[in-house]
Amino acid sequence: MKHSPNSPILLSSSLHVDEARKAIAQMVNELVAESKALNNPADIETVSLDQAINRILAADVLSPIDVPSADNSAMDGFAFHSQCLDTSSPEIELSVVGTAFAGKPYEGKVVAGQCLKIMTGALMPPDCDTVIPQEFTESVDNLQIRFKQNQVRPGENRRLRGEDLQKDKPAILAGRLLRPSDLGLAASLGIASLNVNRKLKVAILSSGDELRALGQPLDSGSIYDSNRYSLTGLLNRLNLDIIDCGIVRDDPTSLKEAFCQAAKEADVLISSGGVSVGEADFTKQIMQELGDVGFWKIAMRPGRPMAFGMLKPVPGKSPARKTLFFGLPGNPVAVMVTFYQFVRGALLQLNGAKQTEPALTQAISELPIRKKPGRTEFQRAILGRGPDGKPTVKLTGSQGAGILRSMSEANCFVILHQDQGNIAAGEWVDVALFDGLL
Ligand code: AMP
Ligand code: MG
Repeated sequence: MKHSPNSPILLSSSLHVDEARKAIAQMVNELVAESKALNNPADIETVSLDQAINRILAADVLSPIDVPSADNSAMDGFAFHSQCLDTSSPEIELSVVGTAFAGKPYEGKVVAGQCLKIMTGALMPPDCDTVIPQEFTESVDNLQIRFKQNQVRPGENRRLRGEDLQKDKPAILAGRLLRPSDLGLAASLGIASLNVNRKLKVAILSSGDELRALGQPLDSGSIYDSNRYSLTGLLNRLNLDIIDCGIVRDDPTSLKEAFCQAAKEADVLISSGGVSVGEADFTKQIMQELGDVGFWKIAMRPGRPMAFGMLKPVPGKSPARKTLFFGLPGNPVAVMVTFYQFVRGALLQLNGAKQTEPALTQAISELPIRKKPGRTEFQRAILGRGPDGKPTVKLTGSQGAGILRSMSEANCFVILHQDQGNIAAGEWVDVALFDGLL
């Protein structure tokens, strides 16, 4: 089944979460291909390592050196040649001829019956191929050690030249979302800067006559525009440029103007509000003029209504790129759930990332959870540990789509899949953590 955004099937029936994700990934793929075809040199930037965190690597990093650059010891201990192990005696005695430190190699020879005291990271002398760790040895006297043959096998506790990375072979692959360990790895190779994809420009706007900016008085029936701040917080974790288009009133002229303005500059436009039944009608009409956007009913909770598609390049935009559009539901928790489920991965994919899905884990539900089959539910919860040390989850109170408190207290979503029904206490459930570790 092909899901072009305006396919009538999507308008009339509820769309499975996975189908929605697939349709989004397909469109993003097309946009990435179109963008590549433009061959714009400004799409790649060179940044120093301290600026590279959370950027996406544009080309493979080839190692300029072998790592390690020479054979060295993996342990503090004594280096010797494994020929010394060719004896029928269960115990071996070797005389110590010197010491090798990291950064201070031993220059002399080590012959049969001899060994060298060696520190972790010190160069292995050419005459030695094995290290017996210090803790398996006893000293006979100052210059003689003894150990049991069966404590070590030939070649053990030695790191070989190029064992970790070989010169001119890829060390970090294009498409990597750069994490602290990648920056450390680049630095260990002597690389001070990296080629990364340019930052995406993401415009956000909040739509609704009832919305007030912080600092304005709240008149009857109005509410503060909180989505702007949760969305900005989510986007800031992705290291991109945010264009804040403010609050837009529920009238076609203002909305059209705001969408056009955003499409002029942004790679992606994320709006919240104005896509639910009743409100969607005039948004739909504008979208038909500006691009190809579908209005989806997704079988999920929270976050059922959502618009998705692309806006045509606005005249004068250079390069003439389309703008990816996400019309998220207005409810504050639905915004965060739909962002996590659909937008985050699409932004990473559009920016060239290879791995776009956050990892799931599992935990035991402390209490029963009510769930209707036929839709995917995202429930806010706290991941902890039970008395037996096993991971457990407990929901953070009321799960209404507008209740931010239970979102703020939570540290994870419990994900209840389309076909799942009620969950019994003690049952394992899928969990997505809000925060990553590295
Ligand atoms: P809508 O999707 O426009 O029908 O909005 C659904 C609910 O979310 C309504 O109660 C809106 O008042 C609320 N809402 C919409 N936009 C925002 C926003 N930016 N900040 C906080 N609440 C909002
Ligand atoms: Mg509204």
